[in-house]
Amino acid sequence: MSKIYLSLGTNLGDKKGNLEHAVILLSEKVSVVKVSSFYETEPVGYKDQPWFMNIVVEGTTDLPPEDLLVFTQSIEHEMKRVKTIINGPRIIDVDILLYENVKINTETLTIPHPRMKERAFVMYPLFEIAPDLLIDGKSLKSMMENFKGEEISRLDV
Ligand code: ADP
Ligand code: MG
Repeated sequence: MSKIYLSLGTNLGDKKGNLEHAVILLSEKVSVVKVSSFYETEPVGYKDQPWFMNIVVEGTTDLPPEDLLVFTQSIEHEMKRVKTIINGPRIIDVDILLYENVKINTETLTIPHPRMKERAFVMYPLFEIAPDLLIDGKSLKSMMENFKGEEISRLDV
């Protein structure tokens, strides 16, 4: 079993329901260990769209990294994610953040996720469920020093 962290985001329809549905679909092949609170976040890049709701999930899985990507993409398809614009609206986006201490850089898969460290919507929920995690020997806190915290809020639910 390998320990993994996934980032899930949505900004269309019943956002909380979409995230909960995706976690249920994930649990078919991923043992879900921890789920963060829901975070409401301002869109990155293309601003003229609804705010996102994001969570981070810790789990364990027997799937190797490439098969995990195929599986998470099958969930995106099952939930009818339609590709429109880059960073545009979506029912569900599932990204693989970390897979044990594995480093991968292929055409289709990069782990650790290349943009995770800049994304408040990834780092805040990740810090909530794994405050002691190190990435390349660095603490999450030290990577989050430049965040202003204005673009994200944790929902008390
Ligand atoms: P984004 O998540 O960056 O908004 P997409 O979800 O459309 O964009 O992903 C685009 C591509 O990113 C996918 O087709 C996938 O092959 C690739 N990719 C590379 N690394 C990862 C990763 N760690 N997790 C998920 N997708 C990844
Ligand atoms: Mg993605």
